[in-house]
Amino acid sequence: MTVTAQPVPILSDNYAWLLRDSATGAVAIVDPAEPKPVIAALEKAGGRLDLILLTHHHADHTAGTDEVRAHFGAKVVGAAADAHRLPKLDVAVKEGDSVPFGAASARVIDTPGHTRGQINYFFPDGEILLSGDTLFSLGCGRFIEGTAAEMFSSLAKLKALPGGTKVCCGHEYTESNARFALSVDPNNAALHARTAQARQQRAAGQPTVPSVMSDEIAANPFLRAPDVTSLADVRAKKDAFRG
Ligand code: ZN
Ligand code: FE
Repeated sequence: MTVTAQPVPILSDNYAWLLRDSATGAVAIVDPAEPKPVIAALEKAGGRLDLILLTHHHADHTAGTDEVRAHFGAKVVGAAADAHRLPKLDVAVKEGDSVPFGAASARVIDTPGHTRGQINYFFPDGEILLSGDTLFSLGCGRFIEGTAAEMFSSLAKLKALPGGTKVCCGHEYTESNARFALSVDPNNAALHARTAQARQQRAAGQPTVPSVMSDEIAANPFLRAPDVTSLADVRAKKDAFRG
């Protein structure tokens, strides 16, 4: 009895995530920004939708919310702190709250840095993290509304999750993130291994995510930054990187 997560490719490089609780058959969708492919994936999965989980207010994560809700009648969950700029929420949550999903539940983790009201969801049952635009495979979100200090403490919370945690992020950025990561950490064997795996996955037409938290801790330069100053430095280099 566990929660499983499947990526639904939307827009140019976003993922919505289709979650299923095997104990009850409950279904949730995370960040359904493009209604058509999301509704098609949900219909294919059985036509049931209990919850819509939102990670942050950007349109490439929220735009299809109202249409998907209207189609299935699901409840929308998002950050209380950003309720004023998210689609209408049925459940407004904050750090430490628990979101019931079938027989399972998600823990809400505040992860400011990319946006002020960003939240992530962690399902201990299944060890699934919905990391939005906080943590990508081999990357992290740009500091659009937040500071390096905020992102550092957000990433520290994610690093503390179990090593087997599946990192379900909002974008397919892994290959370009790998090019940058190799430029700052060229001798990291775990990074080379993850890069090779991602290239193989893309060549086969597959998503590179979810990735595994222990692999990210070994290979992701943003998780490997030992302090706020180093994280700010890696982020500045990435923002300037043309590769
Ligand atoms: Zn974003
Ligand atoms: Fe995004």
